[in-house]
Amino acid sequence: MRCRTSALGSHKLKCDKCGYKRIEYDSCCNRHCPKCQGAKRPEWVEKRLAELLPVAYYHSVFTLPHTLNLPALYNMKIIYDIFLASCGGISTDGKKWINLSYRKKFLFPVKAMSMRMRKIFSEKLQRAYDDGKLVFPEKFSCLKEPENFKHFLNRATWDKWINYTKKPFSSPEKVVKYIGHYTHRVAISNQRIIDIANGKITFKYRDYKDSNVISKMMTISAEEFIRRFLLHILPKGFKKI
Ligand SMILES: [Zn+2]
Repeated sequence: MRCRTSALGSHKLKCDKCGYKRIEYDSCCNRHCPKCQGAKRPEWVEKRLAELLPVAYYHSVFTLPHTLNLPALYNMKIIYDIFLASCGGISTDGKKWINLSYRKKFLFPVKAMSMRMRKIFSEKLQRAYDDGKLVFPEKFSCLKEPENFKHFLNRATWDKWINYTKKPFSSPEKVVKYIGHYTHRVAISNQRIIDIANGKITFKYRDYKDSNVISKMMTISAEEFIRRFLLHILPKGFKKI
């Protein structure tokens, strides 16, 4: 809320030619600030575009099953770390993949990759649990029992782990631009917030369940708004990329 207001200080800008002066208030540079992140996006996209190689690219998506939502909410740092390490872990099994690819004709068979990711993730999560690194809310306190946790994790591994890989819609350039829409997006953009009054917030949203085209309005209490916003705040040190 203090971003680009006098609270953070300011600097004066003056045109060399006409002498026009303007005061610019300083930015907060926070990872979750919609004003600051919006400006970083084109820069990020430019840099990624410069790195592209003249080869075929594939777009791979990894997800976790919904069963893990609650533990993930209470153990963001550990679970996000494990998740990213598991996705990365797949590509380090070099020799095994190359052997497989001779038979299957492509380097990373999607189903095998998905199973591998699930295995690495489960092992790492079990290890974190054994080391006493996970915390559970009251509602899930039964998971403090090692037998129960084993059962829970076992169940989660049978849930849907949606992993898929596809060719980019057109060019890798388009994919980078597409991903750029998400990498710097914050929970809600300023334009979507219509009104703040009497402890209530009104904002625009799109209803995924209702064709996702029509823009609707919702009014909720400030506390509820902040609660929802905080769900999108990443642990310290984390970036979306
Ligand atoms: Zn800011």
